[in-house]
Amino acid sequence: MHQPPLPDLTRNDPEVATLIEAEARRQFETIRLIPSENYVSTAVLEACSSVLTNKYSEGYPGKRYYEGQQVIDPIEELAIERAKALFGVEHVNVQPYSGSPANLAIYLAFASPGDTIMSVELAHGGHLTHGSPVSITGKWFRPVHYHVRRDTGRIDLDQARDLARAERPKLIFCGGTALPRTIDFPAFAEIAREVGAILVADISHIAGLIAGGAHPSPVGYADVISTTTHKTLRGPRGAMLMSTAEHATALDKAVFPGLQGGPHNHTTAGIAVALREASLPDFRRYAHQTVANAKALAAALIERGYDLVSGGTDNHLILIDLTRQEIGGKPAAKALDRAGIELNFNTVPYDPRKPWNPSGIRLGTPAVTTRGLTEEQMPQIAAWIDEAIQAARKDDEATLTRIRGEVRELLAAYPMPGWAPTPA
Ligand SMILES: *Cc1c(COP(=O)(O)O)cnc(C)c1O
Repeated sequence: MHQPPLPDLTRNDPEVATLIEAEARRQFETIRLIPSENYVSTAVLEACSSVLTNKYSEGYPGKRYYEGQQVIDPIEELAIERAKALFGVEHVNVQPYSGSPANLAIYLAFASPGDTIMSVELAHGGHLTHGSPVSITGKWFRPVHYHVRRDTGRIDLDQARDLARAERPKLIFCGGTALPRTIDFPAFAEIAREVGAILVADISHIAGLIAGGAHPSPVGYADVISTTTHKTLRGPRGAMLMSTAEHATALDKAVFPGLQGGPHNHTTAGIAVALREASLPDFRRYAHQTVANAKALAAALIERGYDLVSGGTDNHLILIDLTRQEIGGKPAAKALDRAGIELNFNTVPYDPRKPWNPSGIRLGTPAVTTRGLTEEQMPQIAAWIDEAIQAARKDDEATLTRIRGEVRELLAAYPMPGWAPTPA
């Protein structure tokens, strides 16, 4: 059953309670390899479901537009102070509702509609909010994109430098959603400095690795750092903007009143709890184990003949081109889901197929590492992935069902915060 338990919800609204219970069980019984997902602690769950959701607090600590902030102010200040200490930054805003509004606030703070911005293209591992044509950021601004190199699968810094010199962007984004290699923050800082651009490091995917010392930090290189709080950082759904003191006012004004109304105080408390957890020695071990697991999984997949973009991984994430396996990313991901292995279909760089059924799948180890899986289990996971993909090509449902059972059996030994077997 769900932890903490849901007795009132079960009594008063069994329809919703039953669905939440089903999702908790699904999360318990599935190998969750979606690299942007994780399991938050029950402490974070408790903070997020607290009475703080009842309170309106437009403004910032000490300067609110509503009364009754005696308790909310210290909660937000605690979250800010913990983030400052954890990442070593001068300024933090913990109010963005999620990663996308956080990024939009950066545009509002530093650019005007029509201005040129530069980022890695979505199909090469970027994010929608880095100027994709379907995003408001691509419609209202003028994006130019650098790419990953065809031969190495790694960011083409020479192209980024040339493009920046030619286009003089206001904002340069580094970081993305499907980049398996270390981001070279010093190199991007040099490019941004040369052309007078604001450098934004979007560390949404790798914030937990940075906090845990398993990926270099952009602090001291990026003017602005944007991150979600719910990926490797293992907090509630939310986001933070971090910067030097110089940009503090511009960012704060852009978040409120520029873009948002009242902050979600229950989320702020959850972020504060997650930031404390991320400052403990256990979290450092977690961050390093996440990377070790990804490297072990990558090695096992390569051994089975899989073509990994860039030939491997430095972080928590693996991007596979399934062209060699003669199956699309989408049918592969759907078959794996039926086998109890959850990941997502994804474009690969220079993908000849359309984004709705691309050539690749994207996977990662943040969630399975939280469950306690180590390098020891990675070859077995790679074997299941391989077997399920072969089965999908032959419409062999029986094999998928068999794997699903084996997965459930393995995971029964690895507890999940948020769900526990019902006591007999
Ligand atoms: C996840 C992500 C975001 C957006 O976060 P949402 O909370 O989904 O809006 C932005 N940038 C990057 C690089 C991300 O990975």
